[in-house]
Amino acid sequence: MPETAGFPDAVARWRGLCAEVDRELRDSRRPAGSVAVMCVTKTRTAAEIEPLLAAGARVFGENRVQEAAVKWPALKRRYPEIALHLIGPLQTNKVDEALVLFDVVKTLDRPRLAEALAARAAQGARLPELYVQINIGSESQKSGVAPGEADEFLRLCRDEHRLTVAGLMCIPPVDEQAAPYFALLAKIAERNGLTRLSMGMTNDFEIAVQLGSTEVRIGSAIFGERG
Ligand SMILES: *Cc1c(COP(=O)(O)O)cnc(C)c1O
Repeated sequence: MPETAGFPDAVARWRGLCAEVDRELRDSRRPAGSVAVMCVTKTRTAAEIEPLLAAGARVFGENRVQEAAVKWPALKRRYPEIALHLIGPLQTNKVDEALVLFDVVKTLDRPRLAEALAARAAQGARLPELYVQINIGSESQKSGVAPGEADEFLRLCRDEHRLTVAGLMCIPPVDEQAAPYFALLAKIAERNGLTRLSMGMTNDFEIAVQLGSTEVRIGSAIFGERG
């Protein structure tokens, strides 16, 4: 296929990955198609991303607003049906730019950001779909709402700021079993009436699917290790 010339591996790996997710869903007796596979394209060039778009991938994640602003406007003009997700921290001074670029923000993680988003909505802006990021391992170097503060933060977003929260996102601690953290995220979601869970990356997506993930975010298993 000419579209994939130069980067044939990423497409093959993405297809393999989708097949593995399907298999995991069957083994877990969950409905086919109930987990989205997000291609995480941070550090990847437009030329590396193109073959995936041509092959039919439709969900993409970037972790920096600035980087996405360079690569994605041109790609989105050609593939307007794709969904671009912000999976890294959002500074309040970048909110306006993020609203233009992203269909989904996975990293609503503090009252000031909730307030900034609510202010844009009040001015008539269409907000992206929002997920609250939970700092599921309570790690000082990670962003996200502490598990013990999640219920109160969700209440603040919904009741005070009138924001619609679609689900929760987490990144568990590296070098630890991810399962207990995924289970904890599922529990926080359940008691808050949320059904969507963005959890699972290259090293732990199988267990995430077993524990109820509705979206896995995959970078290296598709594109190779980041340099
Ligand atoms: C980079 C990144 C991923 C993808 O990680 P891989 O291990 O390469 O699959 C997923 N989620 C977030 C938030 C990331 O920053």
